Amino acid sequence: MTSKPCPSLPAVALIGAGPGDPELITLKAVRALAQADVVLIDDLVNPAVLEHCPNARVVRVGKRGGCRSTPQAFIHRLMLRYARQGKRVARLKGGDPCIFGRGQEEADWLASHGVSSQIINGITAGLAGATQCGISLTLRGVSRGVTLVTAHTQDDSSLNWPALAQSGTTLVVYMGVAKLSDIRAGLLAGGMRDDMPVAMIENATLPTQREYRSTLADMQHTAAQVALQSPAVLVIGEVAAQDAQAVLPLAHSA
Ligand code: SAH
Repeated sequence: MTSKPCPSLPAVALIGAGPGDPELITLKAVRALAQADVVLIDDLVNPAVLEHCPNARVVRVGKRGGCRSTPQAFIHRLMLRYARQGKRVARLKGGDPCIFGRGQEEADWLASHGVSSQIINGITAGLAGATQCGISLTLRGVSRGVTLVTAHTQDDSSLNWPALAQSGTTLVVYMGVAKLSDIRAGLLAGGMRDDMPVAMIENATLPTQREYRSTLADMQHTAAQVALQSPAVLVIGEVAAQDAQAVLPLAHSA
């Protein structure tokens, strides 16, 4: 009988912590956290998940747009330094590491420096936020797909608005709070109807979650009225008119 060699564990786990509710984290993530010596944590991560790594050293490396930030190069070097010391590193990110989370960038950088890593999925904020508001992002006969898109680009290049407006899919927009005017103008110019339903979901899945319904034409006005804050996701499409009472949201654990 032959037995397979046990593959050595990767030095770094790039972990999605989920959208905010500490119960929305995977068992795989919990196991990787429990094995970590050092945890590098982003500021969109709910610190409540640190209960899974009570003995690990925790380093906060948050970098919210426009605020005090830890440069990405510094985070790279920190991961490398700990990994080379033989420590097991958990890099904890909000939502999913590969949805606007630079997970692949960090994995590639580590690989180019001879350090192995593993990416562990998390539930991304757009999906969880919609569910919390009773919105099904795909819906038979209404929406045959979902497009996850960020309004924020490194080089400030424009999105292909006509393609997005006419895709027939539900749009879930990340990092859009400061770009509402561009999103509205782009989609309208791209041919989307001005009464297309929009849901704006702030602090999704947290006890502080706020949710507002509007239309494409009015969304900027609505956001200003309620002083919509980041982090928030926008759901733009027919499904955003769904009634929140139709689906029972998850109970908050915290
Ligand atoms: N990797 C993350 C996204 C990081 S980009 C994920 O998969 O969820 C940061 C953006 O994510 C924010 O600007 C916001 O648009 C969205 N976001 C993250 N957490 C959120 C939350 N709890 N509620 C609403 N939006 C959130």
